Amino acid sequence: MKNKTGTAEVRADIVIIGAGLSGLTLNYLLKDSGLNVVLLEARDRIGGRILTLKKEDEPTVEMGATWFGNKHLHLIAMLKELKLERFIQELGATAIYEYMSTSPPQLVALPDNDDPSFRIKGGTTALIDALASHLEQEKLFTGTVVDRIVNSNNGLLVATNGETFLADKVVSTLPPHLFHKNVTVSPQLPRELQELMSSTHTWMGESIKFGFTYKEPFWRAQGTSGTVFSNTGPVTEMYDHSDFEDTHHALKGFLNGNYYSLTREERRELILRQLRKYYGSKADTFTDYHECVWAKEPFTYVPYDAHVLPHQHNGNPLYRNSWLDGQLLISGSETAKSFPGYMDGAVESARWVCDQILGDR
Ligand SMILES: Cc1cc2nc3c(=O)[nH]c(=O)nc-3n(C[C@H](O)[C@H](O)[C@H](O)COP(=O)(O)OP(=O)(O)OC[C@H]3O[C@@H](n4cnc5c(N)ncnc54)[C@H](O)[C@@H]3O)c2cc1C
Repeated sequence: MKNKTGTAEVRADIVIIGAGLSGLTLNYLLKDSGLNVVLLEARDRIGGRILTLKKEDEPTVEMGATWFGNKHLHLIAMLKELKLERFIQELGATAIYEYMSTSPPQLVALPDNDDPSFRIKGGTTALIDALASHLEQEKLFTGTVVDRIVNSNNGLLVATNGETFLADKVVSTLPPHLFHKNVTVSPQLPRELQELMSSTHTWMGESIKFGFTYKEPFWRAQGTSGTVFSNTGPVTEMYDHSDFEDTHHALKGFLNGNYYSLTREERRELILRQLRKYYGSKADTFTDYHECVWAKEPFTYVPYDAHVLPHQHNGNPLYRNSWLDGQLLISGSETAKSFPGYMDGAVESARWVCDQILGDR
């Protein structure tokens, strides 16, 4: 078979679709297997829902995954293996709490926290970079959007906007709903699986994250911690996002997802208006503003046909089957047995698929 450019397809033992945390972890786990593994990534960058913005003289600002806890054992084991360090997310002794729009914001005492959240030193992207350092660059195809998988006599054909690939096994690490919407499979997958995928929530797909960077952590001087919880919004949660060294400072939080249709400037102004309520004109002394509207990221989110609940069908056991005569495996955070939707789930699902692949040899 010839691909769109008229050349023969690229042959591989394993094609991994998606170079997010699951895809990169799987590639890392298979690095000594002797298998010819290629990774196909639609975006021009790797990392998927891990997106750490880095600018000189500014803190790293996480637009995607940020925190984990002591319970996330798969992730912690991977961090240890890759010799990556973690640090505690400081919440401070107080938080600004807005209970209702008709009451002024209150400064409330936070209880001692014996189950802290952690961040990765250097930013979450340090994990992506460490995994990618084991990647042979010629095996990574970025800007490569998979749109079709066909069961042929010689294996699975994977059609993209560029080359066509032929593999013994294909692993999708796409959020299942995205896979269902954007990738045609021939012959069709069983109806039960299609229905499951169509109603599996993509964790955080609707969220909006923002960050303001500042020269000084002025909020601390004002006796507050940077921690905000608001029932009125538009900012619903916010935290001190200073780096591990505490030399570069930022406030980072979540905006109510309904504000996705506004312009960047309109969102920024609404957030500032809320921050001025708490911190006065100091809020305007930011050096940079960052945001990511994940609902506008076509390689993370597409609208659902019907309403789905947060985490709906995440970790469903049907994802532990293989398809197309054992040649297609569905991995990715949402398919994990433990902590589906989270980074821990992304690592666990990759480990599970790795065991299947190596077990079949
Ligand atoms: C705003 C936000 C905050 C989060 N916060 C946390 C947190 O604090 N803690 C936590 O544990 N988790 C958090 N998460 C969840 C975490 O990011 C995910 O669980 C994890 O990164 C998912 O990894 P993955 O590889 O399974 O999927 P993804 O990262 O979604 O990777 C899938 C990859 O497939 C690519 N792709 C998509 N379509 C195609 C196609 N057709 N062809 C080829 N490639 C394609 C994508 O570009 C992407 O790189 C957060 C997520 C978001 C969005």
